[in-house]
Amino acid sequence: MTETLPRDSLHPAKTAFFFDCDGTLAAIVDQPDAARVETEIVEFVRILHEATDGALAVVSGRSIAQLDVMLAPLVLPAAGVHGVERRDGAGTIYRPEFDAAAVLQIAARLDEFATQHEGLVSEVKSASVAIHYRMCPELEGEALSLMTDIASQYPEFRLLRGKMVAELSASHRNKGDALEDFMREAPFAGRLPIFVGDDVTDEDGFVAVRKLNGIGIKIGAGTTSATHRVGTLHDFHDWLRQLSQTWTAAAPAL
Ligand SMILES: [Mg+2]
Repeated sequence: MTETLPRDSLHPAKTAFFFDCDGTLAAIVDQPDAARVETEIVEFVRILHEATDGALAVVSGRSIAQLDVMLAPLVLPAAGVHGVERRDGAGTIYRPEFDAAAVLQIAARLDEFATQHEGLVSEVKSASVAIHYRMCPELEGEALSLMTDIASQYPEFRLLRGKMVAELSASHRNKGDALEDFMREAPFAGRLPIFVGDDVTDEDGFVAVRKLNGIGIKIGAGTTSATHRVGTLHDFHDWLRQLSQTWTAAAPAL
């Protein structure tokens, strides 16, 4: 585990970036709807996306539609819903078929549970349904037992846990699968992949970059397969700032 992030050794033509969104580009807030990526960070991302000829993707638990809103005006390669849906470097969207009726049935159960408890937020993201308990952490046990119960009734769904959120996904694809898909295609193929994330579901991405001899950067504490670690999201943002300044300065004048 290394605590100093590489910078001078990186080259824009040889690097591919994969960034998680919440807890990585955006600070985590109580209401998932209220999370935003600061304008300055959007600008750093834009610079790196341009400097790498488009080899920068956002890999998040959010849907691609939500990511587009948070990163506007950028429309980036993206993997949404933990790798279930994906938009490649050419803008083509891949979304597997899933049991939409089952998603709605599960959503109805979570809505019912959420309305009984102040502070719980349920959320449908195409192929997955989440329950957020950040505003009422004392309900974690109850929320998880409900999710486990539902998971046993819908064996084709997979239970995912994150920071103050539990999710049932209709797909078994993960962030690592999405990252590997990107790395097989232009403009990502042949580059050094760098994946940055902060949560349990990012571990699949860290394992995938390790297999590709790339760099995984874990933000914050916790067991991880990442090769590097930084203490906070601000440390990562400082690195983004430095890298985007260096690569802007290095760009040839037109
Ligand atoms: Mg995150």
